[in-house]
Amino acid sequence: MPLSRVVSLLQFIAFGFIGTVIVTSFIEWAVHRFVMHRPVGKFDYPFKAHAVVHHGIFRGDESYHLQNEKDKETIPMAWWNGPLLIAICATPGSLVAWFLGHGSIAIGAWVAAGAYYATYEYLHWCMQLPRKRGLERSGVFFRLNGHHILHHRYMHKNFNVVFPLADLCLGTLLLRSKIAFPQPVHPAVPDLQPLEEKPALPVRVWRFVSLCLTGVK
Ligand SMILES: [Zn+2]
Ligand SMILES: [Zn+2]
Repeated sequence: MPLSRVVSLLQFIAFGFIGTVIVTSFIEWAVHRFVMHRPVGKFDYPFKAHAVVHHGIFRGDESYHLQNEKDKETIPMAWWNGPLLIAICATPGSLVAWFLGHGSIAIGAWVAAGAYYATYEYLHWCMQLPRKRGLERSGVFFRLNGHHILHHRYMHKNFNVVFPLADLCLGTLLLRSKIAFPQPVHPAVPDLQPLEEKPALPVRVWRFVSLCLTGVK
């Protein structure tokens, strides 16, 4: 196969991969918000398993980290969610591939959908069950962990676990709590408490002058 053909194939695969990661952020957000946090008619299994059981056990305080071994099984999704969600997330890219007549876009889409789902399950497992893994020392994990703790504290915020693009675009991104709360303390957990508000400028000037005159803070 000529080199130019290989480069073109890789470009289409990369297009399918990147496009699917972006689309999957929005699918993750929608599934989490509309299927896992509310019953869909009689189909209430994801709502019960996630919003009732998972959120009931793991909250935004120290219970965010596994307290009872028996609760381990409530961290991952049911096995059949994997193939179903991967197929859903790979569908838009596969349709684009079919429409444009470039099957390699579909390859990128399926690889991205599978990788996104595997990343979701592994990140979520490590977040709620920390074990001093190398991954837990990374800055990306640190930030995403804080993002997910705030979701356990405020269930209507931070629906993404892997790639919070949809949270950013759809107005559900929360970087810090607006009020102080008893958050979990762990090396892989950032400070999520509200930033202390600076006093107004005249107050700071007055404090400075008074410090210079009296030497007392
Ligand atoms: Zn949730
Ligand atoms: Zn969780």
